[in-house]
Amino acid sequence: MAEFSLDLSEQQRDLRDWVHGFAAGTVRPVAGEWDQREETPWPVIAEAAKIGLYGFEFLASTWSDPTGLSVCLASEELFWGDAGIGLSIMGTGLAVAAIYGTGTQEQLLEWVPPCFGDADEPAVAAFCSTEPEAGSDVGAIRTRAVYQQATDEWVLTGQKAFATNGGIAAVHVVTASVDPELGSRGQAAFVVPPGTPGLIAGRKLRKLGLRASHTADVFLDQVRVPGRCLLGGREALDERLARARSGQPAAAQAAMRTFELSRPTVGAQAIGIARAAYEYALEYANGRVQFGRPIIENQAIAFALADLRTEIDAARLLVWRASWMGRNNRPFDAGEASMSKLKAGEVAVRVTEKAVQVLGGAGYVTDHPVERWYRDAKIYTIFEGTSEIQRLVIARAISGHPIR
Ligand SMILES: Cc1cc2nc3c(=O)[nH]c(=O)nc-3n(C[C@H](O)[C@H](O)[C@H](O)COP(=O)(O)OP(=O)(O)OC[C@H]3O[C@@H](n4cnc5c(N)ncnc54)[C@H](O)[C@@H]3O)c2cc1C
Repeated sequence: MAEFSLDLSEQQRDLRDWVHGFAAGTVRPVAGEWDQREETPWPVIAEAAKIGLYGFEFLASTWSDPTGLSVCLASEELFWGDAGIGLSIMGTGLAVAAIYGTGTQEQLLEWVPPCFGDADEPAVAAFCSTEPEAGSDVGAIRTRAVYQQATDEWVLTGQKAFATNGGIAAVHVVTASVDPELGSRGQAAFVVPPGTPGLIAGRKLRKLGLRASHTADVFLDQVRVPGRCLLGGREALDERLARARSGQPAAAQAAMRTFELSRPTVGAQAIGIARAAYEYALEYANGRVQFGRPIIENQAIAFALADLRTEIDAARLLVWRASWMGRNNRPFDAGEASMSKLKAGEVAVRVTEKAVQVLGGAGYVTDHPVERWYRDAKIYTIFEGTSEIQRLVIARAISGHPIR
């Protein structure tokens, strides 16, 4: 039995320091510019690909850490650099996680490489689940997938909303209903290969924050994909549908588990933003003099910073615990993954707001990055399950009641 320790291994420290170096040296200096341009930062993605920070090998090596911490460490550092650029780099991971989590080995080998492209010409991927009428209620998706036996093709029709990298991605992973009567149990995920006719890039959305990350609607107009693009394959789908139709419980809540597994990573991103804002505010409070002394010598400021640091550390521990549990197949009996995302998202919003306050007027203007971090942080109580949905998951888990 290994003794309990929160010391990072040498490998983990090296990973953290390496990603931090990229975030500090390459991401931070251009973060303000890409936020203002509201464009995908392709040169930064190319730079990340060149050094091996963007690609399946990098993801696979962080995912394979048996403690579950590497993926959290890398995410926190990258998003400490900038969240908009961070999501441009990590957004592809959402689609890859879906292929990795539900696809077969052949599908993994076929579809993951085009998600990333190569270092000379990097590509991105999109995971399209949300629809105009199906946000928190993922069971309500209307996009339909119909199988055509004669040509061994699936035909996808519908509309996706808020897709990160939607329309600019090489590979889109799209969820669709194959049997609407079965609700969420009648859904499946499909790969839409590069250049497939009928997949139409919709409106690019203007956002409060994360402006360097592309978010857009995606339309699917009779999109035909080969039978092999059904993730997990036909046999597995038919078995799943048969179980659902006969009223048997789902074998394992696979989709739910995939969501739960990604939540600590998203929490780690939020902590990266929070830590950036806290560090900046701490330094500012040491240097800013009013009434003849640094403002940090006022308890009002020092105690606020003490609270921020405490909250960040508490959130990180929840994130690390959930990531360790996920990696080691521990059941989230009390919704621990949701706890980690809930806490980290709420902390990021509180910390960045307080950091603006500590800087006073300087916090409100674009001369300092704190206003950007404040804008960026807000998404963490919304996407990948809103704070309310996380509370719902936790409440159901701890109570056993169908809380609504
Ligand atoms: C920048 C950005 C990037 C995104 N990237 C992606 C992506 O890559 N892929 C993708 O598929 N989606 C993506 N999304 C969509 C995102 O996941 C959804 O916006 C989110 O799930 C919430 O759905 P909604 O916006 O429809 O809100 P709604 O579900 O309409 O919720 C509105 C409000 O009602 C509350 N609410 C809803 N139901 C309940 C309930 N039962 N109990 C209590 N409160 C409830 C919510 O918490 C929220 O406060 C992205 C969104 C944004 C803004």
